[in-house]
Formats: sequence, C-alpha cells, structure tokens
Amino acid sequence: MASSSLRFAQPTFPNSILKTKTNTFFVSKNVFPTPVPNKGKASNAHAITKLACVNKTTEIAACNQIIGDVNSKLMPLRIGIIGFGNFGQFIAKGLRRQGHFVLATSRSDYSEYCKQNGMQFFRNMDALCEEQPDVILVCSSILSTENIIRSIPIHKLKPDTIFADVLSVRQFPKNLFLEILPPGFGIVCTHPMFGPESGKNGWNGLPFVFEKVRVTDAGTQAEKCTQFLDIFEQEGCQMVEMTCEEHDRHAAGSQFITHTIGRILSHLNLESTPISTKGYKTLLQLTKNTVSDSFDLYYGLFMYNVNATEQASIL
Ligand code: NAP
Repeated sequence: MASSSLRFAQPTFPNSILKTKTNTFFVSKNVFPTPVPNKGKASNAHAITKLACVNKTTEIAACNQIIGDVNSKLMPLRIGIIGFGNFGQFIAKGLRRQGHFVLATSRSDYSEYCKQNGMQFFRNMDALCEEQPDVILVCSSILSTENIIRSIPIHKLKPDTIFADVLSVRQFPKNLFLEILPPGFGIVCTHPMFGPESGKNGWNGLPFVFEKVRVTDAGTQAEKCTQFLDIFEQEGCQMVEMTCEEHDRHAAGSQFITHTIGRILSHLNLESTPISTKGYKTLLQLTKNTVSDSFDLYYGLFMYNVNATEQASIL
C-alpha cells in the first residue's frame, strides 16, 4: 500500500502522539486530519522522538500498528458521571478537553448544560447505564453517595466496567465499592486535590491522588484504567499513588483543618483593606476557597473520615 493512500484512509483520532507497545510516534495533522488540542505536560508534547520510519516498509508497518492500537485500545473512553453538580461539571470539562465522551446523570436536570457543552444527559441512572459506559465516575456528595451507589442498576453495565470516584474521603467509597460491585468490575478510587476555584486556571502541577483498588489484566480493563488516569496526567496533574487509608490520614491533618479554619474565618466577615499584608490576603483567599464549597462537602469530610474526629478534638 502506498503511503499516500494511507493518508486518506485513517480514522480521525484525538491525539497527534500515539504510543504503541514499543514506540512513540508523532502523527502529523495530514495523516489524522482532526486532532483535538491536547494541553498535556510539556514533556509529553515533546516526546516526538521516534518517527523512525526509515523506509516505506517500516512506515507502513508502523502505521498499521498505530491503526491496530487505535482500533483496539486507544478509542476515546465513554465516561458516565453520576452527580453532575459543581465538581461533576468541572471535571467533565477536563475529560472533554482530552477527547473523551461524557455521559451524565444527576438528581437535578442538567440537560441544557450538557447540550451546550457537547455532553449527553440522562434523566436517570437506568438510562445512563443502558449506554454501557467504559467508566462510571461517581461525583455525588459524600453524604448521598451510599444511597446512590446502592441504587445503580449494575446488571445493565458491562461486566468489566470500571468504577471510579472523586470523593474527598477515600476509605468510605473504597469499602462501599468492594462490598457492592461484582468481582469483574474494576475499582479506581481517586481524589483530585483541587476544585473549581483552585483549578480554574488549569490543573497543571495540582495533586491527583489515586489507588487502583482492583484492576484485572484480563481483557481491556487495565488499558482503560491507564487511559483514564492518563487524562489527569495529560492535564499536567501531579500523580500521587497512595492507599485510601493513607490519604485519609493525611487529609484529616491538612484538608479538614483547612476547611475548618476557612469556615471559622468566614464568620468573621473579613474584608480586604488598602494595607492588607500577604498573610492577611492568604486568609481572605482561604475563606473564599472554602466557602465556595457546599456545606455538605465539609460535613462529609468530618463525618466520613475516621481521622477527622481526632483532629477536631485537638482544635
Ligand atoms: P457536593 O455538595 O459535595 O455534591 C453535589 C453533588 O451531589 C451534586 O451532583 C448533587 O446533585 C449531588 N447530591 C447531593 N445530595 C444529593 C441527594 N440527596 N441525592 C442525589 N444527589 C445528591 O459538591 P461538589 O463540590 O459538587 O462535590 C461533589 C463531589 O466531589 C464530592 O464527593 C466532593 O467530596 C468531591 N470533590 C469536590 C471538590 C471541590 O473542590 N468541590 C474537590 C475534589 C473532590 P444535583 O446537583 O443534581 O442536585
């Protein structure tokens, strides 16, 4: 096959950098005409080193390998978000930026928002699960999560579906997933340590904590899990692999304290002055960040992290 005919026979694909088992290839816009902008780490953007197609045979073999990978592994994920409030919408934008499909459902109706942002909204979990997304991403409030997870019609999902969540407490959803989900389902517990306020100018350098609680090598689950975590890596997050238990210990001493102090400060009605010091400005910013989150979130940090009670007793 001549390379010129290959140029027009390829499917479109979001990234212009494709990784095969052995090589990283840069594929020009001429080969894949409609790449989606990828705001990944600079190191990835410059990983264009090995388009070492020294002759046509090698080039064709490389392209065939790429097509194989595109078809078998690297198709965009279909991610079903449950709980499409403040944080669900915020994270959905990142998933879209990375070229994945977003399906969403929530207690409230966000169909108009989804229509305007290239996402699909479903009025209930049954309808969403019938679409059989690759990943179910739970973005509900900590307090409502148990009821929500227990009412997901899991029999409608593919048997290798990956369940992920973004809850700000970690052991609680991990234990819930392990208790409720059938053994074939993958489980990845995550906590993006940022939100709509702290991540409004991008996610670069912000910590993303995760634990691959249960991921099987059989089938495509492991690849899909990697592809899911790659979304955050490509956005430039600082990827931190950590057990849920360890996360909760650290979070009680840092996140819970931060939210508590921020909420106490918010009752003092602090205002900016013409001579505000740097320290005072930090306090104002802290207050702004914490009160923009719902009280449910704060309450969940306290009620669902066993270590938080201990911290509270010190205060
Ligand atoms: P939130 O108040 O913690 O949660 C709001 C979400 O929960 C909305 O989708 C809401 O649905 C749903 N919800 C609340 N009560 C419900 C109920 N009784 N039944 C069904 N759904 C209910 O605010 P959030 O900031 O969007 O946080 C969502 C999740 O992300 C939380 O688990 C939080 O810990 C985590 N997270 C948040 C941040 C952040 O900075 N905000 C950062 C990292 C992780 P409707 O909108 O449809 O009413």
